[in-house]
Amino acid sequence: MKKVIVGICKLCKKEKPLTYEHIPPKSAFNNNTKFYEVNSKDYYQNAMDYSEGKLKPKSRIEQGGFGNHCLCDECNGYLGKKYVRDYKKFAEISYGIINQYQDAKCYEFDVSDINLLKFIKQIIAIFICCNNSNFTKTYDGLIEFVMDENSNILSDRYKVYMYLNHEGNIRNGNIMYTNLCGAMCEFTFKPFGFVLNIDNPKPILQLSDVTNFKYYNSEIKYQKLMIKLNKYPTILPFPLDYRSKDEIKS
Ligand SMILES: [Zn+2]
Repeated sequence: MKKVIVGICKLCKKEKPLTYEHIPPKSAFNNNTKFYEVNSKDYYQNAMDYSEGKLKPKSRIEQGGFGNHCLCDECNGYLGKKYVRDYKKFAEISYGIINQYQDAKCYEFDVSDINLLKFIKQIIAIFICCNNSNFTKTYDGLIEFVMDENSNILSDRYKVYMYLNHEGNIRNGNIMYTNLCGAMCEFTFKPFGFVLNIDNPKPILQLSDVTNFKYYNSEIKYQKLMIKLNKYPTILPFPLDYRSKDEIKS
């Protein structure tokens, strides 16, 4: 018999049976991801050894897609119905272009047939799902932005950045407090990396600021809508560390 997990849904905040939410969506290359759960303190302290394969995670391998039990059936279905299609489309285009031009470090391509408002709502939903429920108490307005499909209201305190990713490790989206950028979450899962930076007036220059996706208007038909994204590896588990294996060694 399948175990039923009851808890507080991170979007509607009601106590309900929770379903397994794939983060990112299952259809966006997260169908059969194999991953390890590791103790983060141990992982940070021994990051070099893990990245070089000298240390192997002790925990058992998890299969069936990265994610967790964080949403009720209704909210899970809501994201699936409203936002997942555009996320998937963007992921497919990006995957294709990375594979086609593997040596490039920066990519510019047309995203005019993607509803970018839906896409950024899916990104915010990912950050909500990656953190405990205090996250949305401390940082308000995020749930409302996700739960109203037409809303363009996302406070200026939130900046969303994006890059492409082709190698390295998953970054889990947990909130961190950094010296340089203040409060931030970073979520990386091929082919994307996202950063949510909070209350930081300075831009993060190495990433593309996509916060303006919140103003996307689907009524306007764009002939072309170009986006420029850098591609970075995520070898070590530190936020905004995009050094390649060779750079780390030297
Ligand atoms: Zn719910």
